[in-house]
Amino acid sequence: MEGEPTMEEIIVVEKLNKSYQHKSAVNNLSFTVCQGEIVGLLGPNGAGKSTTINILSTILKPDSGNISIGGYDLAKDKSKIKKFIGIVPQDLAIYEEISAEKNVAFFASLYGLHGSELKSQTCKALQQVGLYDHRAEKPKTFSGGMKRRLNIACAIAHAPKLIIMDEPTVGIDPQSRNHILEAILTLRDQGSTILYSTHYMEEVEAIADRILILDEGKLIASGTKDELCQRFENQVTYSFTLDRKPDETTLILSGLSGIQSVAFEEQGLAITVNITNENLSNIISAILSAGYQIKAMSSKEASLETVFLDLTGKSLRD
Ligand code: ADP
Repeated sequence: MEGEPTMEEIIVVEKLNKSYQHKSAVNNLSFTVCQGEIVGLLGPNGAGKSTTINILSTILKPDSGNISIGGYDLAKDKSKIKKFIGIVPQDLAIYEEISAEKNVAFFASLYGLHGSELKSQTCKALQQVGLYDHRAEKPKTFSGGMKRRLNIACAIAHAPKLIIMDEPTVGIDPQSRNHILEAILTLRDQGSTILYSTHYMEEVEAIADRILILDEGKLIASGTKDELCQRFENQVTYSFTLDRKPDETTLILSGLSGIQSVAFEEQGLAITVNITNENLSNIISAILSAGYQIKAMSSKEASLETVFLDLTGKSLRD
């Protein structure tokens, strides 16, 4: 046989649709997730991420479309799919008053684990999220980030092949977020396949092998970060902080070469340029000769934010 070996497809979604009261939440969505990948489902609030995840988790019924998970047809083999996946829900689903270890053991027992296997899998899951040393403590004493990690341990103790996470880092501090992102990478390195939804582009940029960008229920782009950003590889945005609010009528920059866009802000400017033919000195001269002082300057390469803005005309942070 010639050619590249094809990766095993763990999730195959074809033409998925779901509406609530005639309003479309997921619109003709098709995508695949392959064995061993971390796939980030990125989109702003209301994009359809939770709806998609709830359908894959068998919690919500689609209006139409075909879905197969681990080779099982979602319309026919719901119970096999439930064992195949571990779901980390957006809202915490843990018991505050019993120890971390008992929490994990309880959820694992729902999947039929018992005896020594239950004990060893519970320990393993707690280790995977970095909570083994806290196993005897009750979650009511935990920080928000530790509770979220326990939420993950509860979902993975039955050793699911596929882990589906719905915004697992919402509302926690940056250090705890990094712990969770590291735990996700460890799970992938140990052989799990992970589908992970978020509206934080920095997270998918940091950990996703592949990114699906969703907006208004539709898949608007997909690929690795480099593939998605490739069109913008010659683009840089310079941000200038000035001594006062710039005046659009006196500070004219659009005639300079290489300038793609200029955004006037409260105390400065954001200028996007094509680096192959721009001249930073000309931009700086124009600002200074219009009578402004430059207090600070920074530059930023294109990111997923740029991609999203280009595709939708709006910011991911809106
Ligand atoms: P996300 O997870 O990306 O924030 P959701 O899947 O929660 O997006 O929502 C997609 C769209 O469906 C939104 O317009 C939302 O208002 C709507 N929606 C979600 N759940 C319901 C529901 N139970 N009833 C009515 N509309 C809903």
